[in-house]
Amino acid sequence: MPFLLSPLPYPEDALAPAISARTVGLHHGVHHRGYIDTLNALVGDGPMSGMSLEEIVRKSGGPGAAPGLFNNAGQALNHDHYWSSMRPAGGGEPTGALQVRLESDFGGLPAFKAAFLAAALGQFGSGWVWLVWKSTAQALAVEATANADSPMVRGDVPLLAIDVWEHAYYLDYQSARAGYVTAVVETLLNWEWAEGQFLKARG
Ligand code: MN
Repeated sequence: MPFLLSPLPYPEDALAPAISARTVGLHHGVHHRGYIDTLNALVGDGPMSGMSLEEIVRKSGGPGAAPGLFNNAGQALNHDHYWSSMRPAGGGEPTGALQVRLESDFGGLPAFKAAFLAAALGQFGSGWVWLVWKSTAQALAVEATANADSPMVRGDVPLLAIDVWEHAYYLDYQSARAGYVTAVVETLLNWEWAEGQFLKARG
């Protein structure tokens, strides 16, 4: 079974004005779809056919993988995390156990936001910024990764993923990555999804 492009969890115009319908449409319908199509072509009937996307992401960095396989599998999965990390009329504050951990691991929501923005701006070139549950350390962390890389490769669990490739914001913000990330954090973050991921990760 080939991998399919997951439908957006909201209409294309639902993230405006922080992210325009044109950006969402191109990002999902062209960029995300392109990673899925290339992934399917590379997996074909080869040794990774039948594996889940998560398995392919974890295994495809190793020896013997087809060139480009990790990049396209990683990007296919990272974009699923990205769309889930946002919702219309999002932002606000986390609740429950995740709110408690944000206090203890970062010193509160403002400190988390500052670390998240700094990581996003510090990522040179294309990549991602994450709120992640570090499985070994049993702690929350902010990380930035390059290109298609994901914390999942190292066994950690994404709680929030924001795309900082220019295709995510260039039409709306040109090169002003800070404006894009700030708008996402303040008006679109899906803390309910993050909390669900957190509770699953802790078991
Ligand atoms: Mn993207």
